[in-house]
Amino acid sequence: MTDEHGDELQRRFATRAVHEGRGKGGPAPAHNPPIVQTSTFVLGRASKQWDEAVDPTAGHDGNEEPAPQETRDTYSRAGNPTVRRAEQRLASLEACEAAVAFASGMGAISGLLLSLLKPGDEVLTLGPIYSDTRAVLHELLATFGITTRRVTADTLAGSLAAHSKLVYLETPSNPTLSVIDLAAVADSCRSNGLLSVADNTFASPFLTRPRELGIDLVVHSATKYLGGHGDLLAGFVAGRAELVDRVRSVGLRLVGASLEPHAAFLLLRGMSTLHLRMAAHCRNAMAVAEALHEADGVVRVHYPGLPDDPGHDVAARQMDAFGGMVAVDLGSERRAAAFVDALRLFDHAVSLGDASSLACISATTTHAGVPAAERARDGIGPGMVRLSVGIEDTGDLVADVKRAVRAANAV
Ligand SMILES: *Cc1c(COP(=O)(O)O)cnc(C)c1O
Repeated sequence: MTDEHGDELQRRFATRAVHEGRGKGGPAPAHNPPIVQTSTFVLGRASKQWDEAVDPTAGHDGNEEPAPQETRDTYSRAGNPTVRRAEQRLASLEACEAAVAFASGMGAISGLLLSLLKPGDEVLTLGPIYSDTRAVLHELLATFGITTRRVTADTLAGSLAAHSKLVYLETPSNPTLSVIDLAAVADSCRSNGLLSVADNTFASPFLTRPRELGIDLVVHSATKYLGGHGDLLAGFVAGRAELVDRVRSVGLRLVGASLEPHAAFLLLRGMSTLHLRMAAHCRNAMAVAEALHEADGVVRVHYPGLPDDPGHDVAARQMDAFGGMVAVDLGSERRAAAFVDALRLFDHAVSLGDASSLACISATTTHAGVPAAERARDGIGPGMVRLSVGIEDTGDLVADVKRAVRAANAV
């Protein structure tokens, strides 16, 4: 993480978001990172080791040696120069030693779990987690003899079994935006010899850096805020180099969910403006949450930025602002549907972190695969709408949600 002047660590977040991993190499001194759109790499002379013994100048006429910087790559499934720039930038923003990119968030999560777990191991999850991550743990890995148990952050230390191996959590969680104290979880994992993994998709590294709080590994759906424009799928695992290397050599190389060079280029472009977009997402989400909080007919607003939200105090400690996601409970499925249909600036769609606003009804979309009893326990009622608040004009967004609440009240 140092450049040729050795001063990279002095640079602040916004500078690293724009410059880290830009590099100056490539065929021409390009201002932007070259898209190295290749599946394989030329390896140099096959007879090199014998040539050198006989004639040290051999090998410079036909099959040229690749530049030293590129010699690590042999095949793009395992590594590619454009993808590596995105990995460098994410590692820098997450204050991690290393990062490995994947073709999607689920590629990253599955790759991580398959690399670090073996039959007989137990995973402990804290709070609600993304429904497909839940399915990987409870359905896919269960068939390979890896078990998963849900516990709470408060009871973690007392819930450990001899075969407990890894603790997995998301904060703020999807879609209830509940907040978990990362430093406390990291402490308890460290003292009990467990690996800790945090999905940092909702916060983004601009708001929270779990590694600084002692978490071993961070995962991302870079499809969301890191990409930022709703036009790519990508994922990351970041953390201690030794763990990331294991994830790269098993979860990336063998599972093969590798990021495309062109998607890596778009992702680098997205990450350059993360700090600007996140600041706008947070400002708008706070205004939308406050407007919904005051509106008649709203059962509950979930947003850690509201002073009466149960996660507010922990969020104020571990997040630099409160994020761009808001959940609002309208009380019934019918009222939720009327609310979503009345929105004009929010597209009715899953996903999040796009520059433009999105809304979906959690129980019938993102959390349809979660058993109803578990949804009820987590407070994900049939009337809950999840809002990904975009970077449009604050007043326009507030007017839009107020009008939508009036439409819900009219049904
Ligand atoms: C979207 C999402 C994922 C999955 O990422 P993909 O890029 O869609 O594969 C994982 N975790 C969270 C919190 C997400 O929002």
